[in-house]
Amino acid sequence: MKRSLFLFASLLSLAACQNNPNPSKNIMAIQGIDSSIKPGNNFFMYVNHIWYDTAQIPPTQAGVGSYMFMNYPQRLRLQGILDSVSRASNAPGSIEQKVGDFYASGMDTATINKLGYDPIKPLLARINNIRDIVSLMKFVAGEAKEGNNSVLAFGVGPDNKNSDLNIAQIYQTGIGLPERDYYFKTDPSSTGIQQAYRTYIANLFQLTGSDTATATKDADIVYNIEKQIASSHKTNIELRDINANYNKMSMAELAKRQPNIGWPNVLNDLGAKTDSIDVAQPAYYDKLNADLKSIPINDWKIYLQAHSINTYADVLSKPFVDAAFEFNKVLSGQAVQKSRGEIMANNVDRSLGQALGQLYVKKYFSEAAKKRALELVNNLEQALAARIDKLDWMSDSTKQKAKEKLFAMTKKIGYPDKWRDYSNVTIVKGNYFDNVVSAAAGDYQYQLAKLNKRVDRTEWFTTPSTVTAYNNPSANEIVFPAAILQPPYFDNNADDALNYGGIGMVIGHEMTHTFDDQGAQFDKFGNVKNWWTAEDYKKFKAKTQQVVDLYNTFTVLDTVHVKGAMTLGENTADIGGVSIAYDAFKMTKEGRDTTKVDGVYTPDQRFFISIAKIWRVKMKDQFLRLWINNNPHSPPMWRVNGPLMNTTPFYKAFNVQPGDSMYLPQKDRIHIW
Ligand SMILES: [Zn+2]
Repeated sequence: MKRSLFLFASLLSLAACQNNPNPSKNIMAIQGIDSSIKPGNNFFMYVNHIWYDTAQIPPTQAGVGSYMFMNYPQRLRLQGILDSVSRASNAPGSIEQKVGDFYASGMDTATINKLGYDPIKPLLARINNIRDIVSLMKFVAGEAKEGNNSVLAFGVGPDNKNSDLNIAQIYQTGIGLPERDYYFKTDPSSTGIQQAYRTYIANLFQLTGSDTATATKDADIVYNIEKQIASSHKTNIELRDINANYNKMSMAELAKRQPNIGWPNVLNDLGAKTDSIDVAQPAYYDKLNADLKSIPINDWKIYLQAHSINTYADVLSKPFVDAAFEFNKVLSGQAVQKSRGEIMANNVDRSLGQALGQLYVKKYFSEAAKKRALELVNNLEQALAARIDKLDWMSDSTKQKAKEKLFAMTKKIGYPDKWRDYSNVTIVKGNYFDNVVSAAAGDYQYQLAKLNKRVDRTEWFTTPSTVTAYNNPSANEIVFPAAILQPPYFDNNADDALNYGGIGMVIGHEMTHTFDDQGAQFDKFGNVKNWWTAEDYKKFKAKTQQVVDLYNTFTVLDTVHVKGAMTLGENTADIGGVSIAYDAFKMTKEGRDTTKVDGVYTPDQRFFISIAKIWRVKMKDQFLRLWINNNPHSPPMWRVNGPLMNTTPFYKAFNVQPGDSMYLPQKDRIHIW
């Protein structure tokens, strides 16, 4: 099932990989370097070119390598757990029973295919019964409680200005393409995606009984409503403005401002008791308020049909799954569908992630790894504090505040101290659709229970089995799930050079988010509050502008460039992450040495090679375009070459000279943190 993701714009989507086949060796030999490439011309390719030329993108993936594509071997691990737990006899209500039966029900494609779209017929009948705006919004609110989001995206999260309190929040939503610009671009790649999307919607209508002509006409209606909605959406760059996306309003004010939405009824139907709400993007709801009146109710009903069928397309029979895949293929370039087992491993992780996570951690995560990772985090923290002391552009008073914030940061490693309770989720064998709805409804109730309550700072916003890491500015915390603590990011048996250039860089990256263009606006308690002197903040802004300008110059595909403003936070974190990890590495015994550890590379060289390996990815052009438009990170090559161009020790380690493509004169190298 598809859900809108709203919280945590600064989430870092990373990725996983295979276990090191030879973990007993402390000094692992580095292989596969292409010495025909000068390191200073393209360090990413110097390290990865031989791999890049030979790596095959599996037809079931849009790319291959580390980073998010590590989730392939990761899914195999989860599938192994699920295959075995689904065959065992488990105590009713236990997490084993829930994840096992959820998985088994989704693997039972014979039953799913036999049902066709029967499971959503009651839902389509409810849409058919909509008579006016009031009954339309009642339907919308009711469905939102089961994870079927259409024009309303409601959530609960910390108040940006009072980070101990969870408040009601609403966000822009209502479109089916990845973001607003997809509706307005006229280049061939974008128009191809627009057409594929219309075809997909028409297919969904045909699969639920419409003839071809009606389906095509209705798909146009849906697309045109979405295009109108998209015109009110903020761009990904505008969404980075913390203050512009915080608009706490009283319910009375909102009800008056947008009378057609009928907020008192909507909130009541959502079960949300609150007298205020943070309207993240008011322009969207203003537009919805107007559109509810100006667009005929029958057109809205067609729109809601499309969104509802789409929400459940991957839970229904094969023709629906295939239709959704055909559209996804155009968007991502992935040629062939993943196996059902892999899809289901992903879906269990999405629906019951902390239950599956418990089983994953038991099998794949060691306390020794947790201890070593914490040691690295603490060393990085010391390194960053020392760097702050030495900054030449910041006053002592701001330095003091920055260090206070750094040392107040919470570090979460591996898995949550307290696991989520799934007792209100009912899972049975043989009814996949109901299982998915029950998990989504349980998720909604879990969110709702937090409304106007104190923030639980032990909560996790990702699952332990996801290869990722994140910085949550409103809790001033950094989080590293178990799944990222594996090669190439981390190997408890590897030397410090590889680990500091691997997970060390990731840790430094997450720490720097605390001080990137967004993070710097939050204080040590997680409130949006200025702790800078005016002069220091001005200098900081000028430095972040240098980052925007530099990354804007990076060309990715033909005329496609990195979007400097959209990727600013991540690029700042990459530049800072490398420097902090390097300084922490220099505090270790290996880091202080200069002898070639394996007879080939110095410790410093191994450190930088490790950085190039953790972002080693090859992907389809379609996926790269999608990435550039929607991913706040730079593409992998620029996550390596971008920061290293600004890292003087890298110049020394690989003798980078004027004339080399990556060379920047000392005065142009960006140093923020
Ligand atoms: Zn990040």
